[in-house]
Amino acid sequence: MALSGWVCVVTGASRGIGRGIALQLSEAGATVYITGRQDRTLQQTAAEVRERGGDCVPVVCDSSKEEDIQKLFEQIQREQNGRLDVLVNNAYAGVQAIFGNMGKKFWETEPSIWDSINNTGLRGHYFCSVYASRLMVARGHGLIVVISSMGGLRYLFNVAYGVGKAACDRLAADTAVELRSRGVASVSLWPGAVQTEFVSQAIIENNSPGVDPKFKEVFANGETPELSGKCIVQLAKDKNLMSLTGKVLMTCDLARRYGIKDVDGRIVTDYTSLKFLVSQVPYLSWLSVAVPSFFRVPRFLLTLANGRF
Ligand code: NAP
Repeated sequence: MALSGWVCVVTGASRGIGRGIALQLSEAGATVYITGRQDRTLQQTAAEVRERGGDCVPVVCDSSKEEDIQKLFEQIQREQNGRLDVLVNNAYAGVQAIFGNMGKKFWETEPSIWDSINNTGLRGHYFCSVYASRLMVARGHGLIVVISSMGGLRYLFNVAYGVGKAACDRLAADTAVELRSRGVASVSLWPGAVQTEFVSQAIIENNSPGVDPKFKEVFANGETPELSGKCIVQLAKDKNLMSLTGKVLMTCDLARRYGIKDVDGRIVTDYTSLKFLVSQVPYLSWLSVAVPSFFRVPRFLLTLANGRF
């Protein structure tokens, strides 16, 4: 039990990636506080955790409400004597809004989409980071992970989405600057395409209108929601964790670093491999079978290609 005795929080763990992360952290022995807005769905995740022999505390907590967040961390202070080892900022209320407005320009979309996406998925992460850091700094130990995506680097879905993700990456980078000397690490994690419940129904099975068919193929070969959790378990116990603080980490890179496969035994798709990139080029995709998977785009090129100076 790699994380036996550890205390973790995963926000937004009633379904999707948060649920997968909670399952993996609890399977590794941690006591996991899981949040969401509805007790019924949280209890479903909790039952699954317990079926696998794990320990989990469901807490109804709306990440868009500061008083809920404050109460969550007060509960942990009380019940765990102030111990908090890992916070995963994952809660996200924007998936429906993103897919409901696919293909529209930002001026054609109601501006309130900003709040649907970023109240929970950015502001809520900042507030949780503040309260979690107070506990972690006091003990000189901890890890904060914010779930972001490739949308932090380049345009994906819509404007509010990309701005929010770039800010999540910056949240990890800037909190890391102030936390480094206190023994607390802060990173941004980019999962690849993940087969959450919503994605499976809306994209893989139903072909929801307006969704680019290319997405369907990428998601059909996507990660299970538990892969991010497997990566976080390995990261949390990495002896060189502090060398990664402030960085953007991709699940495919962590899977390679720690030698892990997805929970269903599949090798994790490397979105920066030449093999994957060639497979996305019309008329050239057939070539990808011949391209070795170890050729990858160097990370500095990704930054340069998206440079703004
Ligand atoms: P999801 O399936 O919609 O799950 C979102 C979770 O957040 C649910 O448990 C939901 O529970 C909870 N939640 C929503 N609003 C909340 C609030 N105000 N307070 C507390 N909890 C709240 O989303 P997902 O696809 O797993 O996405 C999670 C994160 O991963 C997002 O940041 C997303 O951008 C990122 N990501 C996703 C993919 C992908 O392919 N799916 C890829 C890369 C990155 P309730 O509704 O019951 O509150």
